[in-house]
Amino acid sequence: MKIMKFGGTSVGKPERMAEIRKLITKDDETKIIVLSALSGTTNALTEISDALSKGDREEAKKRIDALESHYQNFIVELLKDETYFKKAKETLAEHFEFLNIILKISYSEALNKDILAQGELLSTKLFSIYLNEQEIAHVWLPALEFMSIDQNNEPQVASIREKLSKLLDIHKGTQLFVTQGYICRNAKGEIDNLKRGGSDYSASLIAAAVDASVCEIWTDISGMHNNDPRVVKDTKPVKHLCFEEAAELAYFGAKILHPASIWPAQYFNFPVRLLNTMEPDAPGTLIERDSDSEGVKAIAAKDFITAIKIKSSRMLLAYGFLRKVFEVFEKYQTSIDMVTTSEVAVSLTIDNDTYLNDIIRELEMFGSIEIDKAQTIVSIVGYHVAKTENLLAKVFDSLTEIPVRMVSFGGSQHNISILVAHEHKEKTLQLLSHGLFD
Ligand code: ADP
Ligand code: ASP
Ligand code: MG
Repeated sequence: MKIMKFGGTSVGKPERMAEIRKLITKDDETKIIVLSALSGTTNALTEISDALSKGDREEAKKRIDALESHYQNFIVELLKDETYFKKAKETLAEHFEFLNIILKISYSEALNKDILAQGELLSTKLFSIYLNEQEIAHVWLPALEFMSIDQNNEPQVASIREKLSKLLDIHKGTQLFVTQGYICRNAKGEIDNLKRGGSDYSASLIAAAVDASVCEIWTDISGMHNNDPRVVKDTKPVKHLCFEEAAELAYFGAKILHPASIWPAQYFNFPVRLLNTMEPDAPGTLIERDSDSEGVKAIAAKDFITAIKIKSSRMLLAYGFLRKVFEVFEKYQTSIDMVTTSEVAVSLTIDNDTYLNDIIRELEMFGSIEIDKAQTIVSIVGYHVAKTENLLAKVFDSLTEIPVRMVSFGGSQHNISILVAHEHKEKTLQLLSHGLFD
């Protein structure tokens, strides 16, 4: 069995759905197709939800109507047969009626998740109707019946496996399944999601749950590039990554993969392929257990980082100090990315500001606190990169014009991270590309 996940741009236009149809019917292997929402839909739903949370029903209604007319145009192009077109119209009516009803309900976080789930439900239902029109046998699988997260908001593969295998057993003999990425149920049984970009994570969790031979992530670019193609010109695809390299890149900002999407592959040991729907014959990137070479593979950047410096003269020779500092972050469920310490100061970074004020208030008991917002972590990733001779010197030679705020070296063998103010991100990525790849 193999898993094929198609992202927003891959399903965002009717002709793209036709491309996907070709790709998924190329051979007879049993497949689970995981789809994202059509590109732009989750953003639009977020805006609808934001407007409702502010009590601006008029704005929400305006956006719901705009989204509905986008989908009405989409099905006109997608479907030729009157019977299937009618079915698609009914599907749109059902989901947009739901959105119009919630306009009248008072806003809550649970409602927000219900709104966000509409995108993947719509894309998979429309794709399923299209496959029926094309007479391609398949089964539409409801992700809300098998994809779940526990009370700590973590998915558990064993539980997904149990529920999914029951569903697959009901449809024994079926070779093609279509399901939703991103959406799931939480421990309270409510509709929830795996965070933005979460369809990649859905695909790799499903691959783990069914012992898939491969998890294919189909997107709009031919694999992981060696730098962020949205920022740097002339980036190149990386043909091979090991799990550690891919996990570091995903976590430290390479948007092509959801940050958590590699651990299921690493734990259950199945390969992941990053492929391009627009260029299906390009080799893309193969991600598997063993590394093919040492040294720098790619550079990634993670934005919206806050740096916190705690200065304390009492730290001098005080054991247990760092534990107390970390306990504050644990209490507020805020994870730390980079840490550096000296005898008088600890600097660290977080990517989630939700509890920043509470954290600062508690840290002030230890000493004086300095906060720098709008920072970016730039990570240089490759197998055993921290052991590569002269690499650190090359990195600093490349960045003589950039004020580097922090450096983290040796924490992971496969990652050297530096912290710069966001305003220096673009230049930093460009200079590193020249310095390390030219
Ligand atoms: P999808 O909708 O298919 O999930 P995403 O937009 O989430 O697609 O991810 C693909 C995009 O990731 C690319 O179009 C590219 O702009 C961006 N990206 C950022 N960093 C990288 C990188 N290192 N390599 C490839 N793509 C990257
Ligand atoms: N549709 C969701 C998002 O836009 C999930 C995904 O595309 O992976 O974030
Ligand atoms: Mg994505």
